[in-house]
Formats: sequence, C-alpha cells, structure tokens
Amino acid sequence: MSLQINALTSAGFSGNIVLPNSEAWTDATQAWGAQSKRSPKILWLNQENLDFAVRSGGMAESQSDGAIIDLCFLDKVDYDAANNCFHLGPGQPWRNVYKKQENMPVTVMGGRVGFVGVGGFTIGGGLSYLANLHGLASDSILDAQIVLADGSIVRAKDNDDLFFAIRGAGHAFGVVTELVVRAYPKPTSVYGGFILFGLDKYAAICEHIADLAANNADPNVNAMVGLVRMPPAMDHIIILMPMVFGSPEYAKEALSWAWKLGPLQDLSSPVSYEQALAAQEMFVQRPATTTTYQQNSIVVSRLTPAVMQAALKWQVDLHKDPRFYGAAILIEPFFPGAFTPKDNKGNAWPHPRSFYVIEPFIEGRDTQPGRAEEEAELLRACSKAVENAADPGTILSKYPNYALVGTPAIDFYGENLPRLQAIKRRVDPKNRFNKGIKIIA
Ligand SMILES: Cc1cc2nc3c(=O)[nH]c(=O)nc-3n(C[C@H](O)[C@H](O)[C@H](O)COP(=O)(O)OP(=O)(O)OC[C@H]3O[C@@H](n4cnc5c(N)ncnc54)[C@H](O)[C@@H]3O)c2cc1C
Repeated sequence: MSLQINALTSAGFSGNIVLPNSEAWTDATQAWGAQSKRSPKILWLNQENLDFAVRSGGMAESQSDGAIIDLCFLDKVDYDAANNCFHLGPGQPWRNVYKKQENMPVTVMGGRVGFVGVGGFTIGGGLSYLANLHGLASDSILDAQIVLADGSIVRAKDNDDLFFAIRGAGHAFGVVTELVVRAYPKPTSVYGGFILFGLDKYAAICEHIADLAANNADPNVNAMVGLVRMPPAMDHIIILMPMVFGSPEYAKEALSWAWKLGPLQDLSSPVSYEQALAAQEMFVQRPATTTTYQQNSIVVSRLTPAVMQAALKWQVDLHKDPRFYGAAILIEPFFPGAFTPKDNKGNAWPHPRSFYVIEPFIEGRDTQPGRAEEEAELLRACSKAVENAADPGTILSKYPNYALVGTPAIDFYGENLPRLQAIKRRVDPKNRFNKGIKIIA
C-alpha cells in the first residue's frame, strides 16, 4: 500500500489520501444499505480498467471494488441574490445546505431527510416538501459543471443533451461537480409533524387521500402517508404527515377529516420549515453497517384506494415472516399541475404534470449471500401487486431516485431511453460511469 501511496504522490497527486483501517476510510466507504458494501482499493482513475463509483451522499449505488470518487469536499453553498439561484457543491448532505440557509428568506428544492446527498438527489429527480409548489429538484437546475470521462469540463447550459440527461439520469454521463439551482421563497408559516392512526382507520384515510390527490386545488396543502410498525408491540400504524404552508387554523380546516377520524396520537403542530425538516431525521436514523436497505417505486397517474390497500396488504403479509422486521411504505401524492408541463423532451425522467408515488422499502439485518436478492424479489413482488391493483393505463415510469438495483432502464426512462443511450455513446463510449440504473445494459 505504501508503494502505491508513494506512486500517487510522486505522480503529483495533491488531494487527500484516505488509508484503510482509519476512521475516515470506514466512514467514506460505508454504504447506506450494507448489501452494497464493497472494499475499494485505491483512488487511481487513469487506469483504463479500474472500476469506480461517484459518491455524493452515499445513499444509493455509489460503491465500487476499485475506487470511489468521494465528492464530500465539494460542499459550497453560495447564494446569488441577483440571479435568484444557489451554486451548490454536490458532495454534501442537504442538512448542510439547510443549516447555511437558516437565516435566509429563500431555500432550494432539497431532500426531506437531511442525510440525503445534494448530488444524487438532484440529478435523479428530487422530490422535496416543495414539490407541489415548484415541481422536481431536477426541474430547478439552471446549470451544472460536469467532468466527462475524457477529462473535459463542460457546462450543462452550453450542451442541450447533457442538460436533458442530468435531469433524472445524471449518474451516467460524468461527474457533476457543481449544481446551479433556482432559489424559492422559504415557507414562513408551516404546519407539520405526524398524526398516528390504528389500522382500522386505513380504509377511511385511503378515501380521503384519493380525494385529495384528485381534487386538491391548493399546492400549499400536502399530506403523505406512511405505513410502518411501531414498538413496543410492533403493531402496524398509519402515519399521516401533514405539511401545510399556512396558519394552523387553515391546516386544521384543509385536513379536518384527519382529526375527525380520531387519531391514536397527534404529534402535529405549527413548526418552522427547518423544524419540519429536522423532524424527519428523528424518524430516519443512519442504519448500522450491517443493515441492508433497498427501495422500489410504483408511480401512478391515479391514486385509488385499491392501490393503497394493495400496498398495505403486501406489508402486512410480509411481516407475518418474522425475518423481515423493517418493511415500510410511503404514499406520496403530488397534486394536479405540480410539475412543469413537459413534452418529455426537456427532462430525462418523463413525468406528467401530476403523479403519485408509492415507495416500499425493506431494511434487513441479515447480510448472508443471497439475502439481498431475496429482499429485492420481495420488493418486485410488491410492485407487481400494487400495479395489478391500479386502474388500467395509469402506471407511469418508475422514479429513478427510488431505483431498485437490477430494474431495467426502460422502466424509468421509457421513450427517452434511446436519446439517453445516444448521448451516452457519445460522451462515455467506454461506459465508465456504470453505477446505478444501466443506460447501456
Ligand atoms: C433515508 C432516505 C431518504 C430519502 N428521501 C428522499 C426524498 O425525500 N426525496 C427523494 O427524491 N429521494 C429521497 N431518497 C432517495 C435519494 O434521493 C436517492 O437515493 C439519491 O440517489 C441519493 O443521492 P446521494 O447523493 O445521497 O447518493 P449517492 O449514492 O452518492 O449517489 C446516487 C447515484 O448518483 C451517482 N452520483 C452521485 N453524485 C453524483 C455526481 N455528483 N455526479 C455524477 N453522479 C453522481 C452515484 O454514483 C450513484 O449512482 C431518500 C433515500 C433514503 C435512503
């Protein structure tokens, strides 16, 4: 190893060198889900055949046995008031960005959980709390700096193809080293938190959420539903997560049905935008190094009670098997007209003006060979069960940021895939950027 380090330094490498068996190495190579943990050897990218992965927040498939290009030092947060935009380093978690925006009246379309990385989130779509108001985070990209496989440095705004590609498929074309994203007014009056219900209320909640999904006229009124199990008895619990930008009175009127249903516990209240974001981190902790984590998505253009019931049934059935302690589902309604009107040409991920996402995920404690594949198969089965319950013709492309490893690219990019493949052949002919969704199989 020391010979290799000497070779690096004598070749003029002046960056940080992180050695195995150090704390920094453990941290830099830790995956969010232990099933994708690898043992990288060294940073040396001029080797033609060295496998590598680019990593921003490390929440997804950014692991390699060869090298990891860890962007954690790319952490700038510069506000350009004149142009109403932020210049962001992609290698930091969103919580860094929110911390620096604490005393500003503006914010960006960032992750709902502060651990998530700016880079992967934004170039894979990006569903934030502000999605119903302003669309996807990738819709808010104004420009980006990208280092291509041949070492050239380009700006996205000067290249229509790359500008298109990094809006939903940005993992596959180069290293995005800077993102320029639009700034938006930070909500000043927020009603958020959690309202907990027993399973007996699920049918009624499905009816109300389906009604909200179809008829909500105010993008300031948002509500997500989580299906989880809670200690000590590990009962199935429904968590309603209101996120209303308005007064508490307005929130209670807009979602009055929630309180009328009789919650088990009401943990909702007026909060600041920062508190609303921090609350998510109370629920979502960084998993242990041995915990596997995989997710999937089902995206529909009509959210029906039948679809939501199929999701719950999958989860309840799964938990009859005591080995699966950590399966949960999130139902995310994005309301009519939330997203930029698209002819699918401007954004690598084809999405209509509204859609609804069902996200099942499994955390496992067992990293025995074959186990991760078994869990992936369960997630595929969930996808099938929910899609079978959807109204005909309402199933849309899967969401890139919730990609289950092994899902074919066509399931995410649909009619945009041929264009993405043509761009890929031009800018990365040797397919060096081959982690995550495979644009070229
Ligand atoms: C607990 C949790 C909460 C989440 N919450 C949300 C949410 O609220 N909304 C949402 O939309 N998604 C959410 N996600 C999904 C998340 O957006 C994706 O997992 C996303 O890929 C994470 O980005 P990252 O930078 O952390 O991951 P990474 O693993 O670092 O990167 C993901 C992929 O992008 C590539 N990549 C990363 N950075 C770059 C770069 N700068 N240039 C080129 N390629 C790059 C990587 O190689 C990898 O293939 C959540 C995931 C988890 C685990």
